[in-house]
Amino acid sequence: MKPEARTPAPIDARDRRHAEPVLVYPTKTLPSHDSAMLDRARAALTKVSETTVAPRDARTVRINAGQFFRILSVEGAQVGDLNLWNAHDLSERFYSGKTRALHGTHLGLGDRMWSTFPNLRPMATITWDTLDWYGWDADGGGVHDVIGTRCDPYTNGLLGHDPYHHCCHSNLTRSLAAATGMPLNEAEPLVHDVLNVFMCTGFSLDTHQYFMKASPVRPGDYLEFFAEIDLLVGLSTCPGGDCGTKHSSDTAACHPLVIEVFDPAPGALQGWKQPEPAPYDGRHST
Ligand SMILES: [Zn+2]
Repeated sequence: MKPEARTPAPIDARDRRHAEPVLVYPTKTLPSHDSAMLDRARAALTKVSETTVAPRDARTVRINAGQFFRILSVEGAQVGDLNLWNAHDLSERFYSGKTRALHGTHLGLGDRMWSTFPNLRPMATITWDTLDWYGWDADGGGVHDVIGTRCDPYTNGLLGHDPYHHCCHSNLTRSLAAATGMPLNEAEPLVHDVLNVFMCTGFSLDTHQYFMKASPVRPGDYLEFFAEIDLLVGLSTCPGGDCGTKHSSDTAACHPLVIEVFDPAPGALQGWKQPEPAPYDGRHST
């Protein structure tokens, strides 16, 4: 909430406010994916593994480039916090802020999850979303945001709440440490801002603050991705459950989520290549 303005508006305030908005990053010239090829590839998927993420916990799984994976709702409405790493170089990870700048506050069908500099390439492409019917609600809310960062014990402490160890940040840290054999203090800095899978969020119309409301997800719903590079995928079942009331406590009803991995139809990816890093030589004018 901002305080009342203390500076009188200039006489041309109206004109200044009426400047035409211009999209910062028109995406027409972004490297695109072959959606027809991915549609063919997903037409006959073979499930190769299934990992259940218990409530208020996280799991990290390896997914090969060219495989598809789904985050599946089971048992009840539940939000998931998703991290992606390059399986061979954990310093390359999902870049939530740039993805938001390119695709908007919420991701959906055809959007891509971009990686950090200096690679800035698609790590995964969204190939199906059973909640795509939701669109934007009357509060300005949508599903699968890249606004929020992840619930964490540090912010909780600042806000005066009791220590809570099953926030998504801690869940993802424990899970990455277990999957890689790293100690917690090495794994923690690799945990990063998430894609909030199934979470329904927006900015309040009056103060433009981040809000959440009960997720519309129901058992059987899923968000499906195509892995563009070899990935480590971390998923936390948020202690907020459907995030309709509270998070960062044991109060909300929580449910598991399932990560399903699929091989595509044989031969369907013929000619497909993993994306190259973004074309910049790294000189920074030196
Ligand atoms: Zn969370």
